[in-house]
Amino acid sequence: MPKVKEAPFPRRKTRRINVGSVPVGGGSPISVQSMTTTKTYDIGATLQQIAELTAAGCDIVRVACPTDKDAEALSIIAKQSTIPVIADIHFQPRYVFAAIEAGCGAVRVNPGNIRRFDDQVAEITRAASDHGTSLRIGVNAGSLDKRMYAKYGGATAEALAESAMWEASLFEEHGFHDFKISVKHHDPVTMIRAYEILADAGDWPLHLGVTEAGPAFQGTIKSATAFGALLREGIGDTIRVSLSAPPVEEVKVGIQILQSMGLRERTLEIVSCPSCGRAQVDVYTLAEEVTEGLKDLTVPLRVAVMGCVVNGPGEAREADLGVASGNGKGQIFIRGDVVETVPEDQIVECLIRHANALAEEMGLE
Ligand code: SF4
Repeated sequence: MPKVKEAPFPRRKTRRINVGSVPVGGGSPISVQSMTTTKTYDIGATLQQIAELTAAGCDIVRVACPTDKDAEALSIIAKQSTIPVIADIHFQPRYVFAAIEAGCGAVRVNPGNIRRFDDQVAEITRAASDHGTSLRIGVNAGSLDKRMYAKYGGATAEALAESAMWEASLFEEHGFHDFKISVKHHDPVTMIRAYEILADAGDWPLHLGVTEAGPAFQGTIKSATAFGALLREGIGDTIRVSLSAPPVEEVKVGIQILQSMGLRERTLEIVSCPSCGRAQVDVYTLAEEVTEGLKDLTVPLRVAVMGCVVNGPGEAREADLGVASGNGKGQIFIRGDVVETVPEDQIVECLIRHANALAEEMGLE
């Protein structure tokens, strides 16, 4: 797990569970999850995608398990993945047992679905306990229990929360408590309310998600809005941003949300101005080129890219490294001091050079 800052606001007290080697809840760092898009039975492709997600900073990965072939692949995937693997199972109890036996860190399964199969909930909780496997109850607006639809007239926040609490009671009546809960909805307002109700009702660790959030831009906004509101209330122990985009993007957005909320130590931060009529340089291009040039830095470095000498020097001084542009030149600041002034066409190269030198100094690269 990456460095975690102390939360800048109180976090809700939840019970701690483990997803493989990653603790969730009980004040543990908030973990970032994603889900593979490969066919799980294609072991090579799935492991490759898991490796890419891991490199992007993903803490826990979920894989779908809709067929026998997928269930059979789980043991190799769970063994070879360097981050915990969660098997996502909807109806087949035998896949749940297979995932537990395979060494998955957790299984996402709703006991309400499994109950239809000769009440195997007790056996599942026993197997999960024996193997130290945690479970996740995942209630989604799209798959909400029909009784809740009838009672509430739709997938309201109350319906989602009540459904999740009923599912939780099916585990709890067997003395099983190693599970977390998600109540996902595509509408952030409904989703926020559903999590608030759950947070008031029990100490279950909560997995945050806005489901079917949409393409990258819309999904990012929806997730950031909803997670930001909940995290500020101290709600949320692990998160997954759902995007109609490659899963690595989900991880990047998730990490950025945590960093923006002060819940994870920042890595590289680009502070760039929006530009305005005073700009004496093409700020957009400059910021893009600097971002691209520094994208592999993992140090907690704040780099300011400012378009003029009005607000520029102030922001540039506040940053670890910065540029205030004007008159075809860039004044380069390092931690408040002007270290050199370079022609405009050398600003990017100069910032990258200094950033790498600072990174090396910090010994963290
Ligand atoms: Fe405008 Fe200068 Fe502020 Fe950028 S730094 S927004 S160019 S005033």
